[in-house]
Amino acid sequence: MKFHVLTLFPEMIENGLHTSITGRAIEKGILSLNTVNIRDFAGNKHNKVDDYPYGGGAGMLMQAEPVYCAYKSVEEQAGRRLRTIYLTPQGKPFCQAMARDLAQEDELVFLCGHYEGIDERVLEEIVTDYVSIGDYVLTGGELPAMVMIDTISRLVKGVLNNGDSAEFESFQDSLLEYPQYSRPEVWRGKEVPPVLLSGHHANVEKWRREQSVLRTAKWRPDLLEKADLSEKEKQMLKGEQKDV
Ligand code: SAM
Repeated sequence: MKFHVLTLFPEMIENGLHTSITGRAIEKGILSLNTVNIRDFAGNKHNKVDDYPYGGGAGMLMQAEPVYCAYKSVEEQAGRRLRTIYLTPQGKPFCQAMARDLAQEDELVFLCGHYEGIDERVLEEIVTDYVSIGDYVLTGGELPAMVMIDTISRLVKGVLNNGDSAEFESFQDSLLEYPQYSRPEVWRGKEVPPVLLSGHHANVEKWRREQSVLRTAKWRPDLLEKADLSEKEKQMLKGEQKDV
């Protein structure tokens, strides 16, 4: 999987993604990272890429031409149009299902804005997806791009050591993951739930599923609307509500 990132701060992306699991996957050649410095396409001697917005207003905008040329350099390398994601607080909220969809691509372009954003005309030309990482405003698109790339990378075969780890975790089937425990068996008087020590695989699975449903109902009840719950599980939740 190849990630191209168009940015004014390539070192931020390089430092962030060459670390830990994504860093190891890049070293192994499972992932490839190409950062493109938009400033290299400024076309003026001061490498200026921003200007005042027409109509007035606070702040500066990234100009269309350097962004366009940066994108074109990637398109030429790839030899085709690529799915291009503009990170913006105005975009569709990022979620695990979107990550799964994007992980099917073999190359993706991420466009990081700065200042007050980017001239609309170049967005219309090159962007295929507008994505937000949440309802808050950051100073630039670099952290959001890294959030997305990290999430997508975990779904690429070979990136995680244990192939199973990305399969049974939060947001799978619209449920949160069950609580987990490691050694020691008793920590400061708190015991690991006995079923997890029983070696009885079916009971462990049953307990985990139940905990997932209960935890989702407690912390993210909004997710439950889309979850595929059995009649027994629905009854269990009704019982829980009565107990509160
Ligand atoms: N003026 C813009 C607006 O109100 O929509 C916000 C610009 S923000 C200060 C600068 C850049 O940070 C954006 O162009 C975008 O790339 C990035 N950014 C900020 N918040 C973001 C978010 N929640 N999700 C994705 N990208 C974000």
